[in-house]
Order: sequence, then C-alpha cells, then structure tokens
Amino acid sequence: MAEFQWKEKVAECLTGAGGFLNICYEALDKHLGTAIENKVAIRFISKNWPADKNAILDLTYKDLTHQTCQFARGLQSLGVGKGDKVFALLPRVHELYVVALGTLRIGAVFCPLFSAFGAEPVKTRALFGRAKVLVTMASYYAKKIAPIRSQLPDLKYIILVNDIDASKVKIPDFLDFKKFIDSFSSDYLIEKTNPEDIALLHFTSGTTGKPKGALHAHSAVVYHKHSGQMALNLRTEDTFWCTADPGWVTGTSYGIVSPLVNGLTMLVDEAEFQAERWYLILDEFQVTNWYTAPTALRMLMRSGFDLGSNFDLSKIRYAASVGEPLNPEVVIKFKEKLKILIHDNWWQTETGGIIISNYIDMEIKAGSMGKPLPGIEVALVQRNKEGGIEKLSCPGSKGEIAIRVGWPAMFRGYLGEEERYRKCFVDDFYLSGDIATMDSEGYYWFVGRTDDLIKSSGHLIGPFEVESVLMEHPAVLEAAVIGKPDATVGEIVKAFVSLKKDFIWSETLMLDILGFARKRLGAVVAPKEISYIDTLPKTKSGKILRRLLKSREMGLPEGDISTLELPI
Ligand code: ATP
Ligand code: MG
Repeated sequence: MAEFQWKEKVAECLTGAGGFLNICYEALDKHLGTAIENKVAIRFISKNWPADKNAILDLTYKDLTHQTCQFARGLQSLGVGKGDKVFALLPRVHELYVVALGTLRIGAVFCPLFSAFGAEPVKTRALFGRAKVLVTMASYYAKKIAPIRSQLPDLKYIILVNDIDASKVKIPDFLDFKKFIDSFSSDYLIEKTNPEDIALLHFTSGTTGKPKGALHAHSAVVYHKHSGQMALNLRTEDTFWCTADPGWVTGTSYGIVSPLVNGLTMLVDEAEFQAERWYLILDEFQVTNWYTAPTALRMLMRSGFDLGSNFDLSKIRYAASVGEPLNPEVVIKFKEKLKILIHDNWWQTETGGIIISNYIDMEIKAGSMGKPLPGIEVALVQRNKEGGIEKLSCPGSKGEIAIRVGWPAMFRGYLGEEERYRKCFVDDFYLSGDIATMDSEGYYWFVGRTDDLIKSSGHLIGPFEVESVLMEHPAVLEAAVIGKPDATVGEIVKAFVSLKKDFIWSETLMLDILGFARKRLGAVVAPKEISYIDTLPKTKSGKILRRLLKSREMGLPEGDISTLELPI
C-alpha cells in the first residue's frame, strides 16, 4: 500500500463525475446507463413479512434515482438548499432512503434520528442541529412532535409519511410525503458539491455522556466505497444485509452509502430483531455479506444454535460485526456451531468508516479487532503532561488509538463544539478515546474506553478482558464490568452479569463465577464483586452503558440517558 493515496481516490471520483463530488451521485447516478441501473438496489422487507409473502418492495437504481430527484425538486421548491438540515425520524421504510439520498442530491445536510426516540431526544437534537425540515411518520406526530413543535424555531416544514389517516388526528400544517413527491417531476437534478461540503450530521450513541453531533463531508463517500470492498468484502454481485439502523452511523455509511456505491443489492428489514426471522432472512434472501453487532450476535446465541442450524446459511461468504467489543466466545461459537466466521471491526461515528478490521484472507484471532485498513496509519499513544503524545512501540503496551489525519471519512467538526473538536487532534493525529494493545503480528486488541478503564492497586484494567472471561462461564450470557471506588486500592473490579436461559441466580452460582474468573484472570484483575442483573442497560444502538451502572452503584445522578434502550 506504499503507493495508495486517499487524495488520488478522491481525485478519481471528481474526474469521473466531471469536477464535483456528491454522495448521491456516486451511490445512484454513476450507475445510470450501465448494467446496474435496472438491478434491485434495495429490497425492503416489510414487518408484515413473512406472514404476507408479498410484503417486499424492490427499488432499482433507476427507481431510486427518479424518486430522489422528485424529492430533491420538492425540497428545492421549499427553499431548501446547500447546508440546510433535513432531519428524518423514520423507521426503515423506503421513504427514509429516498429522503437520505434526495437530501444529499441537492447538497442539503441529512440528519437521521433513531425512530424509537421520544419527544425530548428529538427536540434536543433538532434544536441543536437547527432542523429546517423534518420527515416523520403521521403516527408519531401526536406523541413525539406535537409537544415540541413550537419549541423548534428553525423548523419550517414537516413532511409526514401517511401510515395513518392524518385528517383523523387533525395534524396542523404538514405536507403529505406521497402527494409531495408525486407533484414534482423526476427530471434529473444534482448539486455539484465540493468534496469538503458538509453532507451528514450524525449524533453519537451517547455511551459516555451527552451525544455529540459529528459532521461529515461529501468526500466520505470515497472512503465508504473502498472500505466496503476491503473490510466487508463487498462485490457487485453480492446480496448484502447491514442490520444497523440509519439512525446510527453504521446504518448510513454501510447501510446506505457503501453498498449502493458498490452497485450491489442490499436488504433492509423494517422489523426489529427476532432470532428466527433473522435466520429466515439470511436463508430466504441468500445473503452473501452480513454486517451486524455483538449485541445481536449474543441474542442469537441466547436463542440457542439449534434454531440457526434449521436454516441454510451457506451463502454467507463474509460476516462482520461492529459497535462494541466482540467477545472471543461469540466468534468461537458461531464458527463451531453455524460455520460462520465473524470478522470484528472497529470504528466510530467520528471516523465515519471502518478503521481497523479483520479481512477475508486473514487468520482471525478471536477477540482481536484486526489490523488497520490500507491507507490508514494507526498508532497507539500516550498523552503527556505537556499536551503532546508519545507513540508506544513495544507490542503489548496499552495506548490510545490514534489515527493520522487524511482519510476522507474523518469528521469535520462537532456541531457547535469547536474547542472539543480541536482537542481531539494532536500532532496530525486524531485521538479516539479508546485504549487498545497491538501484538507482535500487528493485530489490535480492544482494552476499553478511556472513561471505562479501572485503576486498581496501580494496575490498569480494561473491562473487555474481564467481561470476555465471565462470558466463558457456562451460565453467563452478558457481562459488564466497572471500577467501584475503594479507599484502599483506588477502585475494585465489580461485575454485573445476566444469565443464559435455564440458569437461576444464587449465592452458590455467584461464588462459582467468582472462582472461575479468579482462576483465569488472577486475583488482581478478577472481579471482587458480582451482581446479577436481568438485562444490562444499553443504548438504543446496543452498547452497554457502563457509566450508568457505575453512577447507580455510587448513587450519583444518571447523566444523559436519552439513548437508553429501556428505562429500568
Ligand atoms: P459517545 O461517543 O456518545 O459516548 P459512542 O462512542 O458509543 O458514544 P459511537 O460512535 O456509535 O458512539 O461508537 C463508537 C465506539 O464504539 C468506539 O469508540 C468504541 O468504544 C466502540 N466500538 C466500536 N466498534 C468496536 C469494536 N469492534 N470493538 C470494541 N469497541 C468498539
Ligand atoms: Mg464515542
């Protein structure tokens, strides 16, 4: 990769398009006039499927081009243009994808919100992001929008996807999505954006605190294209299923942009996770590439592998996971029981795309995130007192993941937080806030987030290592580990565990798990305390909220819990 330059890849796209770079152009228009234009771009599986076998909607690249041109023309008629923010609060229905790409088409900024957000999280984000247009479901209006509408001074237009009869619930002043786009022609239209023009506003998961608004530029598409090929092994003939919702960055970078730019057919499932349904989708639609998350994989494990073995999963050529540390146990079990090799990869909302990954032709070491993508320089660093960084060279040292700036998907700012953005960079490196180690063969191993590291008797303990060992115990389904303040040793390691079905919590089981962990981890690293928890608190994107467990343990305020999955 000595000769690989991201700048050249950006220049290639600019030349191909005739001097501009627009995500929508790369995703759709570029395929027009090729064999791809009449191919299914997105196959939408309605939540009524499989009860209703026909509840599938196929949109070709050409269909999507037409519909996004109509929507873009509609936005233009409202006076929406470059830089204006179009928010979407939609489930995974086809309108969401038309809104995303149509917004990008005219150079406006697309901002997806997770559809399960209630009024308050929607208000905070729409206010902060100065939403001009909001596209949502008519059925969401009464609960989620009506209470906050008057508090959003920049919000000029509400467009509703009419899943209920809006006239019956008396919604004031709105545009009906279908009528709206039907009233505009699909004549071709594209805004000739520059690579640095802002295209996307993505809010982070809020795992460590109040969610941040990360801004991404149109040039990110270049990274989405190549990283999809390299890290997810995407090819034109594939059927790809990214299970992430576009409300989170994975669901946009790899659940909209990357697959379309690579000209393949992708699946979108409207329904929420359900083990049998997921196996059925993988089987019936002959998924070749599957991108999912550790929480989903652990839930599939909970449902038992016997269920999975009833399905034909042999078409899966490549499976990958992101979002949280992938415990080795999960990789081992999926390989053993279902012959599926899960490739872990690491990245963040801020990085815009996959940074460290396992590849198809690489030996997988269960528990490792893999190696940096070609064209990416990663260093493990320590911050010094003068505000600088020192690179760690010795294999096995724990350091913060730092990435040399210059990859096109890197975020271009935190909305309204310039100082915070500036502080993320030292000496031409972006500092991620995550700690990892690298072994002598160049594989990276996740240790924990800086905020989650536990300092006990002078040792630095990463929760991931402890959680992974706890999960090897036959009774443990999921585990979360925190540092509990202690006058003598600084912090003690405290674990919370949930159990697999058929196991019941008792003092004896607790002692057994304690002993099991101590044998494998040694007395310093093993938990001193273990508590049972029915379900771990998680963000809506499926990440364990260790900070919440910690504040509850210490009786402190819970902080921002706008992304909490279930208030428990
Ligand atoms: P916030 O920044 O608001 O606290 P967040 O960091 O969880 O939320 P995201 O950008 O969605 O928001 O998540 C990125 C983080 O997820 C990474 O910084 C890392 O901590 C974790 N992560 C992602 N992939 C992996 C992985 N493969 N292994 C370990 N951790 C991962
Ligand atoms: Mg983060």
